[in-house]
Amino acid sequence: MSSTKTIGIIGGGQLGQMMAISAIYMGHKVITLDPASDCPSSRVSEVIAAPYDDVDALRQLSDRCDVLTYEFENVDADGLDAVIKDGQLPQGTELLRISQNRIFEKDFLSNKAQVTVAPYKVVTSSLDLEDIDLSKNYVLKTATGGYDGHGQKVITSAEDLEEANALANSAECVLEEFVNFDLEISVIVSGNGKDVTVFPVQENIHRNNILSKTIVPARISDRLADRAKAIAVKIAEQLNLSGTLCVEMFATADDIIVNEIAPRPHNSGHYSIEACDFSQFDTHILGVLGAPLPAINLHEPAVMLNILGQHVEAAERYVTENPSAHLHMYGKLEAKHNRKMGHVTLFSNEPDNVVEFGKGIDF
Ligand code: AMP
Repeated sequence: MSSTKTIGIIGGGQLGQMMAISAIYMGHKVITLDPASDCPSSRVSEVIAAPYDDVDALRQLSDRCDVLTYEFENVDADGLDAVIKDGQLPQGTELLRISQNRIFEKDFLSNKAQVTVAPYKVVTSSLDLEDIDLSKNYVLKTATGGYDGHGQKVITSAEDLEEANALANSAECVLEEFVNFDLEISVIVSGNGKDVTVFPVQENIHRNNILSKTIVPARISDRLADRAKAIAVKIAEQLNLSGTLCVEMFATADDIIVNEIAPRPHNSGHYSIEACDFSQFDTHILGVLGAPLPAINLHEPAVMLNILGQHVEAAERYVTENPSAHLHMYGKLEAKHNRKMGHVTLFSNEPDNVVEFGKGIDF
């Protein structure tokens, strides 16, 4: 049997593109399904240009590929189940269903994986908000469709209830207690259906709910870092994980609380391309192919900065002044405000001195 595979990737954004690059240098062929024929992956793979719910296009992808994977979680799980062949999607559609709905996700995390999440309750209408204890703070989140802080309402006093009630009446929600965290962290873990391998703990700084800077290793105690990695491994094992998963967490003074999972490589893991001996994309490809997984080593402390549409010129200037910074541009044609256009990774022991693009000007 040939060791060269044809890998079908659903989604041709930067995550799909970087997965494809890893697959290609391992000798595989990639076909991407994306609505845009000029998507970032079009630079490195053949593209079937069709909507994600186009059953004929999904079937064509399935027929032409040995293995399928996805770069984002909002793929139509039922549509995929209807066309894919047995075992062709090693990540499975169950993981998609869990990460598409915060109610399923919380249930999975707290009851199946048995990791700590913020105390929460399911809210089906504003009636469920009537008796909440307003001496505490909360975040109300829609169960589906929210991203980067959209579909969320922080509740700190009775004044927030009008908007919260409207949100609760518009969609099923989860009400979480607000966590007074010290840091937001994340851990990348990859599996091959049997074994898992785990990356160092990342510290994440967001601006306007969009990741701006990742610092590795996260500035938390070794004890908390070990706990964060153990939590990620526990979740991966509970899922019999194939491919890469990101676990987003909050670090408090003495505890780690899981916020959510992303069943794919994640923006906070991009530093691994240069800073680790294998990247989160390499282990994703190895994992979905069921290949043995390497242990991961961090070469040196690293910082990743995102380049949004409004930062492109500043980033170009930055790399001419700092030629040892690794520039990645995803090949997106239009530099829209807040659109992720690229990132920079550099090695630094002084992460506070690495200034985010646009800081003080325009996030
Ligand atoms: P999410 O969409 O769940 O990733 O939430 C977006 C951002 O809101 C997170 O990165 C946190 O900064 C913040 N956030 C979400 N949930 C909570 C919580 N329970 N307590 C405090 N902050 C939160």
